[in-house]
Amino acid sequence: MSTDRNIGVDAVLAKGWLGAHKWLLLRRTSQLGILALFLLGPFAGIWIVKGNLAYSLTLDILPLADPYVLLQSLLAGHIPERLALIGVAIVIGFYVLVGGRSYCSWVCPVNMVTDSAAWLRRRFGIKSGARFSRRTRYWILAMTLILAGTTGTIAWEMLNPVSMLHRGLIFGLGTAWAIILTVFLFDLFVSPDGWCGHLCPVGAFYSLIGKASLLRVNAAQRAACNDCMDCFVVCPEPQVIKPALKGASKGLGPVINSAHCTNCGRCIDVCSKEVFGFGLRFINKADNNAPQGETAALGNRP
Ligand code: SF4
Ligand code: SF4
Repeated sequence: MSTDRNIGVDAVLAKGWLGAHKWLLLRRTSQLGILALFLLGPFAGIWIVKGNLAYSLTLDILPLADPYVLLQSLLAGHIPERLALIGVAIVIGFYVLVGGRSYCSWVCPVNMVTDSAAWLRRRFGIKSGARFSRRTRYWILAMTLILAGTTGTIAWEMLNPVSMLHRGLIFGLGTAWAIILTVFLFDLFVSPDGWCGHLCPVGAFYSLIGKASLLRVNAAQRAACNDCMDCFVVCPEPQVIKPALKGASKGLGPVINSAHCTNCGRCIDVCSKEVFGFGLRFINKADNNAPQGETAALGNRP
């Protein structure tokens, strides 16, 4: 089993550094590229994209709107414009195909903050951790919607770290830095994957959109698993892996079907045995390739 300090070392030896960081590099390119498109307008006068993550217009043609913000707006009593409705339909259609929480790992700027905290936790062996239910995010999601309905405002968007960071990077950080620093310190010292994995209502909302998404990660080569546990350690939602990786003896297929999987691809990167890959959810035939040496520790992961 790898220690937290040498996670992915075997993968680097087996696949080379680039091969062991491919999906991570692609995600960072996506996150920073999207941010750059938004920044080109205000900073260089090149208006490819106007707006922010809540609502944007690309090349003056393509509207994209955040369905979570629109839902809050509807509950607050605002009638959305036609372009916003089209934008929401496009966004929902896209995430139904690629997985709702792909938003988290490929778009959301806060992900880079929380990934940094998770990396530092592993790097310095920080073990402190308040454990609370991953369902908490759904309660918070419900509360934000009730808040919109009862106040007639999208009040949560004034505090939402996702919206604050994105608006802040485009228009000036203002007080957003304090909220983002709080999220970072919370994840680093208080609760592992605390914000994204337990509290964030945006991630919770997108997980609902992606419940039946087509694109899924699978553990198709699970017979090759050597129980190093690297995938469990790097995964922001480790509870989603076990049924696919270790469920062969129970007749479970190798597809990671949980809507909480963010399709980040880190499990693919860090696996030296190339167990994981991207595929379609319905290619999920159970087999008898039960991996050898299933450890008790795997059964105890959260
Ligand atoms: S859980 Fe929330 S903050 Fe984290 S990556 Fe997803 S949307 Fe962003
Ligand atoms: S199972 Fe893999 S792709 Fe899904 S969240 Fe975990 S590391 Fe990312």
